Amino acid sequence: MIYAMSGKKKIPIGLGNTFAKCPMCGVLHPVDLPDLIMQTDGDLENVQVYCERCTQKRALAQAGAHRGKGVQTHG
Ligand SMILES: [Zn+2]
Repeated sequence: MIYAMSGKKKIPIGLGNTFAKCPMCGVLHPVDLPDLIMQTDGDLENVQVYCERCTQKRALAQAGAHRGKGVQTHG
C-alpha cells in the first residue's frame, strides 16, 4: 500500500481518494491516479487536471476558436 503523508498522519492512496484541483474553477475532483501517471510519465507535480465541466468548456471553446479557421488544403 502507498501512503501520502500529512505531518505524521498517513493517508493510504487509493483509487477513490486521489483528487486534483481544477486550475480553471478551483473545484477538487477525483482523478484516476494510474491513468494520470501514464499520461504524465509520472510527472505529477506539474500536472493540471481540469474537472469534467471545464474540460467540456475548453473543448467547446477550442472548437469555437477553430470554427471557420481550421482550413486544410490538399495538394
Ligand atoms: Zn473546473
